[in-house]
Amino acid sequence: MKHFPIFVRLEGRRVVLSGGGEAALAKLRLLLKTEAHLTVFAPTPAPEIEGWAAEGRLRLVRRAMEPGDATCAVLFYAADEDDLEDARTSALARADGAMVNIVDNLEDSAFITPAIVDRDPVTVAIGTEGAAPVLARAIKADLEARLPATLGTLARLGKAFRRAADVLPMGRKRRDFWADYYFGAGPRALQDGGEAGVKDALQDLLEKHENVAEREGHVAFVGAGPGDPELLTLKARKALDSADVVIHDRLVTPEILELARREAILIDAGKEGFGPSMSQNEINALIVEHAQAGAQVVRLKGGDPTVFGRLDEEIDAVTVAGIAWHVVPGITAASASVAAIGQSLTKRGRNASVRLLTGHDMKGFADHDWRALSRPGEVAAVYMGKKSARFIQGRLIMHGADRATPVTLVENASRPDQRRIATTLDRLVRDMDDADLTGPALMLIGLAPRAVEVEDTKTKQEFA
Ligand code: SAH
Repeated sequence: MKHFPIFVRLEGRRVVLSGGGEAALAKLRLLLKTEAHLTVFAPTPAPEIEGWAAEGRLRLVRRAMEPGDATCAVLFYAADEDDLEDARTSALARADGAMVNIVDNLEDSAFITPAIVDRDPVTVAIGTEGAAPVLARAIKADLEARLPATLGTLARLGKAFRRAADVLPMGRKRRDFWADYYFGAGPRALQDGGEAGVKDALQDLLEKHENVAEREGHVAFVGAGPGDPELLTLKARKALDSADVVIHDRLVTPEILELARREAILIDAGKEGFGPSMSQNEINALIVEHAQAGAQVVRLKGGDPTVFGRLDEEIDAVTVAGIAWHVVPGITAASASVAAIGQSLTKRGRNASVRLLTGHDMKGFADHDWRALSRPGEVAAVYMGKKSARFIQGRLIMHGADRATPVTLVENASRPDQRRIATTLDRLVRDMDDADLTGPALMLIGLAPRAVEVEDTKTKQEFA
């Protein structure tokens, strides 16, 4: 982030602009929405500017800027649309201590004006650091359509009621009240009874919330999917939206954590490979502790929580503590990985069952029914298999598996840095070493990518 978004208080403060043409008009239309004291320097101002000056909405000085003209100004806009003049006026304003924006000159500006969606007092600012103004406009149009025009009115009336609502204890109870107001009772009352209706509705709603018993803590075990935020379920989104505490593992991507409620406490309970950074007992205790304090806890796990997620231990701990819980399933890495190679997990005539295996368990390399897995057409998805590839390869070949059995590695499935490496049982270890996998990777035994557009050109021919 090269530019940090903030909202500057302009009420009663000075803003100075130099320029009298189109660029000046565009900025002034925005600035006139504020409560700033506006001064415009322009030897030949556009008629609109003269009009605003006549109405007393800004002070117009019909000459070019001089030293000292921007004294005490918070912001200064250089809008003469002339590089030399803009450089001169902005230098003067800078000397006077103002923050300077030169219209259409990102490089020399100390701040930029975002695209704005105005539902005063709710304002949305959209910035792309100059990279994609088209995108900013598209987002603005989208938000304009989505945010009801009445939002500003609701927020204004809500703001006036803040004091009254302070009788509710801070935290969850107060938040529930406001959520109920903005997304339920408020819009309904405004539609039915106008502003007076909203005032009554606020009072009624407050009484209702004052009489509601304290909400109990709760734990949602939520699947975050393989990494792409669009592969979250709607239920997962909802749980994140209302979470007080999110306890997540290492597999959950930052893009998904971004979606958690702003005020939510995020706790990383991530574990590294074989060496746990937080023990399972500590995690269990953490979940219980927050839920007992009344929090809505989201225990967010990569993929599906029921697949190699140590879910049962956590459910046991929560149950013993008498805390309510539920599970929100997610898309497991095996599903995302076969999707990435255009294959099915099961296929009529090839495999009527599929195994989800772990490469290692608490005792070390995990043992499996190798004889069954070695049969032609078998399909298995190996989780946590990076370190055990050699072991698995050896066991399968020892039990008679065909050395040419296709194996596909999918690293970072569904993420922007997803990689697919097609190989065979024979070459598995070599190709895996060459690939130098650094992200989470799934090993699909018995499956080759459907289309042979694989990154690894060496193995490409083997499937051509
Ligand atoms: N509950 C998770 C699995 C946890 S075990 C799920 O349902 O997906 C962790 C293992 O999952 C990793 O070692 C890796 O083998 C696999 N994995 C998780 N996310 C993955 C991804 N995006 N791409 C490939 N493999 C992934």
